[in-house]
Amino acid sequence: MPDRAGGGVAIRYWRRGKYEARQLAITVNGKKFHTPAYLPSISSIFARITPGPLIDAVAQIGYPSLLVSAYDVYHASDRDRLLGLLNDYRRKGLLFLDSGGFEAHWRRDGSWGFDQYEEMVNTVPADMYASFDKVGDAAISINSADLSRGLRPEAACVSICHGDSPQKLVESAYEIAKRYQGSHPFIAVPDKECGTTLTEKISTIHRLKEKLVDTDALSCLHVMGCGSPIAAALFSFAGADIFDSSDWYRRVIDAQTMRHLDYDHLELIGCECTACTTFQGEDARVIGHNINFYKSYFDSLRSNIQIRGGLEFLTGKFDDRSIARLDELLKEGVAYGSG
Ligand SMILES: [Zn+2]
Repeated sequence: MPDRAGGGVAIRYWRRGKYEARQLAITVNGKKFHTPAYLPSISSIFARITPGPLIDAVAQIGYPSLLVSAYDVYHASDRDRLLGLLNDYRRKGLLFLDSGGFEAHWRRDGSWGFDQYEEMVNTVPADMYASFDKVGDAAISINSADLSRGLRPEAACVSICHGDSPQKLVESAYEIAKRYQGSHPFIAVPDKECGTTLTEKISTIHRLKEKLVDTDALSCLHVMGCGSPIAAALFSFAGADIFDSSDWYRRVIDAQTMRHLDYDHLELIGCECTACTTFQGEDARVIGHNINFYKSYFDSLRSNIQIRGGLEFLTGKFDDRSIARLDELLKEGVAYGSG
């Protein structure tokens, strides 16, 4: 059943998977993608590569989406050049502008405020953008949700929620989602605020999903800062739809084990992907290889959901006892959740 979220955004239900997993077909400004989806994020925090080569790699591999931070664009020494690269990327790919709250938090920069954020929302030609937030501050996220959403009605505004405990995070997300009931809101939560263990995070995502579906069946749940392939699969089974992280240019991902390796260990995994065999330079090969990995991994995850597959998707990654425990945990979510 096609439905519109307002502006240039359309969301429709595509497939129902096992547990709480699902596929949504989302179109923003004519760019269509299916969930679960991974957005490669570029952040100046802990970065050893400048944005230029990272944007080039994402474009060269033909990856369909990219996330940049409003804080980083605002503070870029070569802002015009960066905006040029983002404009070029946006002609084909979906560009997501993050709020900058994460970078301001890590840099302890109290000068970052709504005015600078607003300037960037109006400057960067993003298809989707996050609402203004401050890490850990639920009240600011809730209070700025409407103001942020009003800045670019033609784009999709993703409301970031915070809470100083998983329970508070769920309450904050529910409060925002209720306001936008019927308009299929995008709700984002930080991975770190969902809990301290994988089990707690899965339970939090179940509760979030239950509350969001209660307000609007087509509300979309985005887990920010989640780039672990294993966690992304489990969170998808628990009901999350979109993920982003900057892991893809920090360490090498081994597709066999799904573990992260040191940057100079790429040669040890014997990969023959396009990037590993044709890209020049170690940095380009590593980031190209990782982008290729996320592309094919999320394709496989969506295929698994389409056939209503479950934890066999992660066969060989855990021992049987852990698989059985995770299966029980995910079934419990279905028992009290929206399933
Ligand atoms: Zn490779």
